[in-house]
Amino acid sequence: MKNVITAIDRSGSYRVYLAITTDMVEEARKIHDTTPLASAGLGRVLTGAGLMGLDMKNPTDKLTVIFKGDGPAEQILATAGRNGRVKGYIANPACDLPLNERGKLDVGGSLGIGNLTVIKDLGLKEPYVGTIALVDGEIADDLTAYYYISEQQNTAISLGVKVDTDWSIKAAGGMFIQMLPGGEEGAVDALEKMLADLPPITTIVEETVEANKGKSEEGVLQAMLDRIFGDMPEEYSTKVLAYEEMKWECDCSDERIEKALMSIGKKDLTEIIEEDGQAELTCQFCLKKYHFTKEHLLKLLEEIG
Ligand SMILES: [Zn+2]
Repeated sequence: MKNVITAIDRSGSYRVYLAITTDMVEEARKIHDTTPLASAGLGRVLTGAGLMGLDMKNPTDKLTVIFKGDGPAEQILATAGRNGRVKGYIANPACDLPLNERGKLDVGGSLGIGNLTVIKDLGLKEPYVGTIALVDGEIADDLTAYYYISEQQNTAISLGVKVDTDWSIKAAGGMFIQMLPGGEEGAVDALEKMLADLPPITTIVEETVEANKGKSEEGVLQAMLDRIFGDMPEEYSTKVLAYEEMKWECDCSDERIEKALMSIGKKDLTEIIEEDGQAELTCQFCLKKYHFTKEHLLKLLEEIG
């Protein structure tokens, strides 16, 4: 399934990723049973992390994006890889607030005052970690600020989640524009002009999908690219580089959970065995439950040595 289109402009000034993530966000909503407010926050973070993941260089590169604040959502976390696999969770999936003054789901209010931390695992000895204060907690501008402050890169990021009356996800998507080294001033001006008149990304996703029913996935993505960049001056018009896939996938397994259990150490594991005689762990991303019998725990204790 292709739901991401990557393009570059003819002058080599910027690169763009566009994603339609309605299905991915709906899957996360079903797993975490989120309120519309929590769906909007989690959906934006998943889509944003997914786009940032696709922008990494190597197939095994991974990143984790953590939004933490003093608001009722508490924390929203997502991890994504260059392979387009995304998973995440919100600490309080039941969080709810009145709509904000613009009549929108108040994602910024749900996070409150706090920080954004980005951890990039590029296969080096130490991961790269960058932290900034939240700009407005609405996710897209926070990620844009992260790139500007921590990576000295100019980006424009739009993220959106539209929730239906039955709480299912009606439309979700994202746009990630990144200026390339040596990018022309003219391209920046043209992009700013284009972005100023751009409707919300969810409107674009919804209308493009509706207007292009029956077309291939690539055809729909191409139509979305044309809709957004169609009026750019010729020298800054786009050419498609690739179609990619971004989707929800949790990679938890017996082995991974065993490792997590062993990492708590001999003392704590012994305590669990003596006090509970068993253990049940839940994957925080997909909520799958892992049950460990006393025998199994004793075996793990032995393995720690
Ligand atoms: Zn899992």
